[in-house]
Amino acid sequence: MSKVYHATHVGKVRNNNEDALIYIEPETFVVADGMGGAAAGEIASRMLVETVEDFLPSVPRPWHEDILQKSILKANAAILRTARSNENYRGMGTTATILHLYDGRAYYAHVGDSRLYRLRNNQLEQITEDHSYVEELVRRGTLTPEEARVHPLKNLLTQAVGVIEEISVDTASFSVADGDIYLLCTDGLTNMISDKTIAEILSNSSSPVEELIDAALDNGGHDNISAIVIVV
Ligand code: CA
Repeated sequence: MSKVYHATHVGKVRNNNEDALIYIEPETFVVADGMGGAAAGEIASRMLVETVEDFLPSVPRPWHEDILQKSILKANAAILRTARSNENYRGMGTTATILHLYDGRAYYAHVGDSRLYRLRNNQLEQITEDHSYVEELVRRGTLTPEEARVHPLKNLLTQAVGVIEEISVDTASFSVADGDIYLLCTDGLTNMISDKTIAEILSNSSSPVEELIDAALDNGGHDNISAIVIVV
């Protein structure tokens, strides 16, 4: 059985928390980072996690990546419908990153710039690719990762859930190894601390989520911060 730690923090600058996370026991994890004016971001991320939480348990496990993808597409339709029916919610959307562990395999589905990381043999690897404008430029070699971190357009997403009808969900599965540590988090964490700091905390801490959030707060806490850590 894995050990699970999770928390979300409003940060030091914002008044509301647009992140949402859920832990569907025993081994399914979701983070969502909402966006949109007024309270709309909160609505979008909450609708995402509620739709996923309603849908997945209605299907037999394991929840393969196509099932995880379907849960995100359902949320996409629901959020879009709500956004179109209410002026105040127009343009709202959310990221979605889902990890399901079952019988030695990991399945994931992902849209946006929240992230899934894996620490294995002391090596931290970012499993998901950010659907963001600056990350596209990094992949093309136009920007360095360091330039991307401080780029004025770093919040611009190329894909989000609930904004348009056709979205393309990244999915994959892979084998889990004993001792793997997984991290799901929002950009309020990764914009504040480096991968090196994340790796150090995951390798050494007995309360990793608390330490990750404290480190992000110490570095400014400009955004809502959410993290789920799973120690296999
Ligand atoms: Ca955020």
